[in-house]
Amino acid sequence: MSATINSITPIGGNAGKGAYHVSERGYYGEFGGAFIPEMLYPNVEELRQKYLEVMSEPSFKQEFNKLLKDYVGRPSPLYFAKRMSEKYETRIYLKREDLNHTGAHKINNTIGQILMARRLGKTRIIAETGAGQHGVATATVCALTGMECVVYMGEIDIARQAPNVARMKMLGAEVRPALSGSRTLKDATNEAIRDWINNPVDTHYIIGSAIGPHPYPDMVTRFQSVISEEIRAQLLEQEGRENPDYVVACIGGGSNAAGTFYHFLDEEDVNIIAVEAAGKGIDSGESAATSVLGHQGIIHGCRTLLMQTEDGQITEPYSISAGLDYPGVGPMHAHLFKSGRAEFKAITDSDAMKAGLQLCQLEGIIPAIESSHALAVFEHQKFGKDDIVVVALSGRGDKDLNTYIDYFSL
Ligand SMILES: *Cc1c(COP(=O)(O)O)cnc(C)c1O
Repeated sequence: MSATINSITPIGGNAGKGAYHVSERGYYGEFGGAFIPEMLYPNVEELRQKYLEVMSEPSFKQEFNKLLKDYVGRPSPLYFAKRMSEKYETRIYLKREDLNHTGAHKINNTIGQILMARRLGKTRIIAETGAGQHGVATATVCALTGMECVVYMGEIDIARQAPNVARMKMLGAEVRPALSGSRTLKDATNEAIRDWINNPVDTHYIIGSAIGPHPYPDMVTRFQSVISEEIRAQLLEQEGRENPDYVVACIGGGSNAAGTFYHFLDEEDVNIIAVEAAGKGIDSGESAATSVLGHQGIIHGCRTLLMQTEDGQITEPYSISAGLDYPGVGPMHAHLFKSGRAEFKAITDSDAMKAGLQLCQLEGIIPAIESSHALAVFEHQKFGKDDIVVVALSGRGDKDLNTYIDYFSL
């Protein structure tokens, strides 16, 4: 089989088939929308008006699919994890996003958005990054297409993520430090938004997860939906049916999960499990389990569930995994939680680390710590022996080696 993009699902209403897809106005149930400063309106509105049309152009699909195949290395394998399946007495498949170029699912989105930016006549790209993974994926596609690239990153993050800063520089990006506030992701995002307001004509802002004002969550989800599209074809080939019994994915902002769930949203026989980072425990004050601890509010331009104080100040999240260390979830996931379509689980640092090490020793695969959270689900839930459980292995563990070394005293 070859990778094919996104049979474009029509924009849904809020009932029946399509109930879990975005509405015409950019909502998933009560979540989503575009809450942005007036001065950003023209940029976001241009994207909103054009994104579906651009994505459905045959030449766009062809270029996207070709890059996914020849540059990213898709389709990523759907691997039957035999030893792990034996241990947990169920049928476990791993969707190997860790084998993608640059080591995670993030490249699927940045490839899509860079092609979108070109179709919109943009010549300059900006992005925000926390741990640096999205910054690297963005710098990569800018090098690939010869676009100017500026990545905003908190000064504190620049200091603690030196290898990713070096990668971005090698790829030709300029890394600009955010010097205000806590000097982390939130401040980098503010700087990126300020830049976009000042450069509305030539610049596209590549957001790195299924978050932000409409149409970003839907656009990112559609680019990532190649994951579930491939799972269906691969399961049909290997098991004779397209639908697994369960799909499982970790959630930071929610892009790998959105892509893994997308083609199963309306398939009621497929159970959806979303895994959040509980950090040191839900009640520890050091957590990122938004579905449990969050309330409705507005973050990064959309209404969703987020962790905040009584007076609406965003709470500092915590997780051992940089990619899950985010105080909100994308609006689609807030709706999947509220509607009960997905089951949410919170996994602690220690359970995730154990599951990560176990995958190394049972299957010879070193997972990203984000992905290890999804793998930990088997210690918390018993699946039937004939159940097919597909877990998104969102990334590889190379970037986390120092954390593994410190944690296990290796
Ligand atoms: C960034 C990242 C995540 C979290 O981001 P989502 O948008 O929630 O997918 C998960 N896994 C890996 C490997 C990542 O790099």
